[in-house]
Amino acid sequence: MIEDIDRDVFVRIQADLLVVGDSIMTDRHHASNGNYEDNDPQNQIGGIIPAFSLSGWLRHGMEKAVQERGGTACHPGEANANFRKDGVYSRDLNAGYHPKGDCLEDDDGDGCVIHDLFGGFGNLPGKVMRRPIKFSPVRSTVDYTRGQAEGHYRRLNRNVVSRNKEDNREPLRNTGLDAVANLDGTWHLSFREIKSEFVALLAEGIEFLDAHNTDFMHQLGGARNFGGGIVDCELVNPLYEEHEIRRVFDRGKGNTNKMDDKDDEWREAYLDEFKSELAERIEDGP
Ligand SMILES: [Zn+2]
Repeated sequence: MIEDIDRDVFVRIQADLLVVGDSIMTDRHHASNGNYEDNDPQNQIGGIIPAFSLSGWLRHGMEKAVQERGGTACHPGEANANFRKDGVYSRDLNAGYHPKGDCLEDDDGDGCVIHDLFGGFGNLPGKVMRRPIKFSPVRSTVDYTRGQAEGHYRRLNRNVVSRNKEDNREPLRNTGLDAVANLDGTWHLSFREIKSEFVALLAEGIEFLDAHNTDFMHQLGGARNFGGGIVDCELVNPLYEEHEIRRVFDRGKGNTNKMDDKDDEWREAYLDEFKSELAERIEDGP
């Protein structure tokens, strides 16, 4: 069964507004020719959303899925790190986490499923590679089969003004934020090694994130208090071929009958089987 699944899988990501700190890389230097105005709606700026925030967001969703099945997840922080808030770390350990890497001591050395996927110790890479998302405002140039998205870059400016009446709201400070609006596309994940439980956990983690997308803890990136980072997400059926993945994003076309059949097949034949492998692995302990 698992041998039918490609190592490359795609997650559909849709967000009205995404702010990932200062780490969006734009290609405006190509487009600007020296006269770029960052608030000009005519600008056609594309760029790259790095995978760091995406990865943390996904990991958190997968940890929750493990915990909902009664297992514990690797804590993301080194156990011997000098945490500033020691009480918070021990509270995490009581809330469904084990110290990072404790799970490596048993049998096969792969550790728990979270460790197996995300790696951690001794330059051991995790088995899922998370790629950046390349976005562009020009829909026709977006290749959804390569982990790209339609998205509109804007530089947001915020003024912090004086509260003293005699200052007449004189600006004290100006801050800029990089934001991507109306994001819709795919996030490309590649398994270095594929296992049934990995695919099941990815499906369950994504489902959890989608169901909790307005929770503060499960929004993506910064600006959460302002409704940034509310992400609708779903795993694109791994049985789809490239032309079917493209069709998912074609607003003028619906699913073909063949795609509907594959959806049924995915849920009933594949996912159920993968989920029982995941249940077994979590039952076996971290
Ligand atoms: Zn672990």
